[in-house]
Amino acid sequence: MSKACYYETLEVERSVDEAGLKSAFRKLAMKWHPDKNPGDPSCEHKFKEISEAYEILKDGQKRAAYDRYGHAAFEHGNGGGNGHGFGAGFASSFSDIFEDLFGMAGQRGRGGRERGADLRYNMEITLEEAFTGKTAQISIPVAVTCETCSGTGAKAGTKPKVCSMCGGAGRVRQAQGFFTLERTCPGCQGRGQMIETPCASCSGQGRVQKERTLSVNIPAGVEDGTRIRLAGEGEAGVQGGPAGDLYIFLSLAAHKFFQRDGADLHCRVPVSMVTAAMGGEFDVPTIDKGKTKVKVPSGTQSGRRFRVAGKGMPVLRSRQTGDMYVQVVVETPQNLTKKQKELLAEFEKLSSGDTQPEAAGFFKMVKDFFGTRAN
Ligand SMILES: [Zn+2]
Ligand SMILES: [Zn+2]
Repeated sequence: MSKACYYETLEVERSVDEAGLKSAFRKLAMKWHPDKNPGDPSCEHKFKEISEAYEILKDGQKRAAYDRYGHAAFEHGNGGGNGHGFGAGFASSFSDIFEDLFGMAGQRGRGGRERGADLRYNMEITLEEAFTGKTAQISIPVAVTCETCSGTGAKAGTKPKVCSMCGGAGRVRQAQGFFTLERTCPGCQGRGQMIETPCASCSGQGRVQKERTLSVNIPAGVEDGTRIRLAGEGEAGVQGGPAGDLYIFLSLAAHKFFQRDGADLHCRVPVSMVTAAMGGEFDVPTIDKGKTKVKVPSGTQSGRRFRVAGKGMPVLRSRQTGDMYVQVVVETPQNLTKKQKELLAEFEKLSSGDTQPEAAGFFKMVKDFFGTRAN
């Protein structure tokens, strides 16, 4: 089932800003809220759709991913990671939306603890690396917990104070139209606490930007598009909240000799007319940096494929291995010398329907065809 565009769902332009997005969502949420339309399941469905759209678009990083990749940005990858897409956990964030807008249900973590953002890292690897697997060192700029203040945001020796506006709840109540709304406290931005003397290293944010080097294990058999999830390696949470996850998106560089088809590898090898006619054998390189002998029988036609069992790619998280297919392409001789031409002419004289059965059959067919037409 194809999903509607999030922007269309919220009836906003793609250029909409945060405030416009929020007010569009608020308007639609009021209209379609199940409590306002009891017993109408289509309203509930519509309400879920707009909530999902808002949940993605209100998050700068998710919105950027959606703008670039569309809904595919939140679909689960094949075979990679352990199946935690960006879209996972919708049910839990669903209640966050209620909190954000209506102050219904659910208590946000006290003291402004928020989960850090997920990060995406694109990595290109070679076919050889996908074959063996590898440990890659990657360097990512990431927000990490400030060491100076241990993430509290307060200067050493001081402590954050409970916010006087909300008494530490992070939210204030306000009657507005249809609902009594509970809004994020403007005094502390929902953190429930105020920092009087901010930490100098992080300006009171509790997090600092840092290059972090990570060791990533790429298992053998990964494919183009495989995702690897590193739990807790994303951005640090706000004021001691849990860290987000890091997703490695793998792509495979094109190989100059092999084409990959699932676990199988395909390659083309030119052979001389004489080898194809008389039979012979030759070495073909394999993906494991070795080589294998391929035997062609006499009378091999151009385009014929030979299977080399077990010389393909490993299958991710299994002990199976694909095969390698070698296609021979007969090369017609060019730039002949006088002597070679004589020999080929001699050969042609000795040729018969037995040496070129297909050609002989073809010319017979042509002859019969015109013979019939002539009558
Ligand atoms: Zn700090
Ligand atoms: Zn407050």
